[in-house]
Amino acid sequence: MDAPEFRTIIEPFRIHSVEPLRMTTPEQRRAAVRSAGYNLFQVHAQDVIVDLLTDSGTGAMSRDQWAALQHGDESYAGSPSYFIFRDAVRELFPFEHVIPTHQGRAAERILFSVLGGAGKVVPNNTHFDTTRANVEYTGALALDLVCGAALDAISTYAFKGDMDLEALEALLQERGDDVPLVMMTITNNSGGGQPVSLANLHAVRDICDRHGKPLFLDACRFAENAWFIREYEPGHADREVPDIVREIAGLADGMTMSAKKDPMGNIGGWLAMDDDDLARRCRDLLVLTEGFPTYGGLAGRDLEALAQGLREVVHHDYLRYRIRSTAYLGESLRDAGIPVVTPIGGHAVYIDARAMLPGIPPLQYPGQSLAVALYEAGGVRTCEIGTAMFGRQPDGSEVPAARDLVRLAIPRRTYTQSHMDYVIEACRHVAAHADRLTGYRIVEEPPTLRHFTAVFEPVA
Ligand SMILES: *Cc1c(COP(=O)(O)O)cnc(C)c1O
Repeated sequence: MDAPEFRTIIEPFRIHSVEPLRMTTPEQRRAAVRSAGYNLFQVHAQDVIVDLLTDSGTGAMSRDQWAALQHGDESYAGSPSYFIFRDAVRELFPFEHVIPTHQGRAAERILFSVLGGAGKVVPNNTHFDTTRANVEYTGALALDLVCGAALDAISTYAFKGDMDLEALEALLQERGDDVPLVMMTITNNSGGGQPVSLANLHAVRDICDRHGKPLFLDACRFAENAWFIREYEPGHADREVPDIVREIAGLADGMTMSAKKDPMGNIGGWLAMDDDDLARRCRDLLVLTEGFPTYGGLAGRDLEALAQGLREVVHHDYLRYRIRSTAYLGESLRDAGIPVVTPIGGHAVYIDARAMLPGIPPLQYPGQSLAVALYEAGGVRTCEIGTAMFGRQPDGSEVPAARDLVRLAIPRRTYTQSHMDYVIEACRHVAAHADRLTGYRIVEEPPTLRHFTAVFEPVA
């Protein structure tokens, strides 16, 4: 008998330790979200059934990662755990200096404190929200130059995270002196989790070379991005993912990283670069708020768990399952007539709430309305990425964001296909009753990153 080709791509692991979910009723959830000011960041996690708020730090560690924790060495200086971590990073990203931080945003704060400042401009395909906030905090301008296909809902181009090369070239010609570095976010989280092609990365490198600018990666989802290159970019189908990752790293001068994403950690991050002088200035800031350079903001045991996570995330069986299971959720929603951003990204599915709820104007936050409805209906927690998150401008005015999306982010190795089938049912239920949803207004908000703490109220 020939070896059969099975269609079902199963989770390439079995469950070793379980966490109970607390089942709740719609009445309980309506009460919980009301007392949270209709802000899902303020809902207690105990009151959530399937938590798709973020894939950041919410993944399940493997048996071998838990074992690595036991191997952690908590020496203040020169811990062997640091060198294990550094070497695991360099196996994929062979940068001279590897500086651990407690999260990605700490790496960003340090890098932009050194390179940013008033009058500077930092281009990126799309800045993630903490990246933008850290650039702007120094007085610099955070510029998004993602390619045109990214905003074209109909386009099926596979690499919608690509940089708009002409716009980058024009920026560097006009304001080159003001640009301290070029950033590339792989995959493009705020844009829809869409990958960047290797060809585009090479082209960006060429532009940076011509203008003498360093290129830094925001590499949070580098393994998912490399898998998309292997699957969809001609000429790479036979390559090993670590080999593709090393090619990407070789195009850059450094990176910022959140280890809560592809490195499979519950906490952690790093900053890496080749430039000795820049590294020295970054380490000077590191000791001020993060810690000594061989632990940054982390315990020795965390460094070891991350080293092991880096070895696991580039495994093809894992990535095949990861990308396929995200696509399964996205395709099922699309087949149910729910508008989703396509092609489906790596870590999340994005519902176009503005298209799904045409009766709710952007300044009444259709994404917030949909996210609250999904929570009330099924205890499914998602995240608005739209006008509630981005609408407030530095000058105090409020304008609709480019899109009103709701992100269903999928924690790594945490939920099974039946959890996803339940989420699909909850989405279908809300879609069937979409005409009953109302908009929201904000009654209280902080000066920055308002989506975390704003208080909402339904519009009567
Ligand atoms: C999560 C994330 C960050 C910030 O990392 P934290 O660990 O949450 O501070 C930066 N960039 C991107 C693309 C991210 O997804």
